[in-house]
Amino acid sequence: MYFHIVTLFPKMFDSYLDESILARAIKQKKISVSFTNPRLFVTGKYKKVWPDGNVSLQVDDRPYAGGPGMVMRAEPVIKAVEKILKKIHPLRPMGTSPLAGGRGMRGKKPKVLVVNFSPSGEKFTTAFAKKFSNTYTDIIMICGRYEGIDARVDKILKTKKFSIGDYVLTGGEIPAMVFIDSISRQVEGTLGNFNSREEERISTSEVYTRPEILIHNKKKYKVPTVLLSGNQKKIEEWKNNSKN
Ligand code: SAH
Repeated sequence: MYFHIVTLFPKMFDSYLDESILARAIKQKKISVSFTNPRLFVTGKYKKVWPDGNVSLQVDDRPYAGGPGMVMRAEPVIKAVEKILKKIHPLRPMGTSPLAGGRGMRGKKPKVLVVNFSPSGEKFTTAFAKKFSNTYTDIIMICGRYEGIDARVDKILKTKKFSIGDYVLTGGEIPAMVFIDSISRQVEGTLGNFNSREEERISTSEVYTRPEILIHNKKKYKVPTVLLSGNQKKIEEWKNNSKN
């Protein structure tokens, strides 16, 4: 699975992707994550070269009809996504839809999903994670900031809009990490044991490990005896009952 992130802040992803299961999945080439910064596609009056040689690249502008905050401009975002699409479809005939097929470098016909995030998008669930891991070869995720992105981006790029929950974040970077994490664990080989995926077995939110008796502030906390019984039928029953 190839994840392509469009973000103004690629460094935000480093620490999360550099550790544990996702780091291993990247190393073992089960997944790939790349970054494209819309700032690199700023041109025209939004690119200013100051007398001291400094360059400012403005990705946002004021909202039409007023209102608080700034809006991310469509152009740099669209150019960033088009650059990614060109990488995915190097042999795509000119003039065809950016999402149209064509055999990529990887020999397999790419299937691309373009995601934009919004608190008012469709709620993202494990069912989507599963479906996406089976359907797409490439997922492009656009991380909005400020008041969001000029809505014409969604029309032009035919994005699917997702929310990760009923709260408002400052940007789409955490939602993109949530997507990478939950979709990757559906990709075979990412988890040490594929059956660790709770949806494949009876699982419980209550889990225990050694020691059998934990002493804290002189009080004893025991592992439920049924889990030590070796009686599989009773254990499954207990797991079913303690499901969240
Ligand atoms: N005014 C916007 C909110 C902008 S929040 C609106 O009402 O839609 C800035 C960015 O954070 C959004 O563009 C989106 O990329 C991201 N974001 C914030 N909350 C989110 C959520 N619950 N789910 C997914 N993305 C979210």
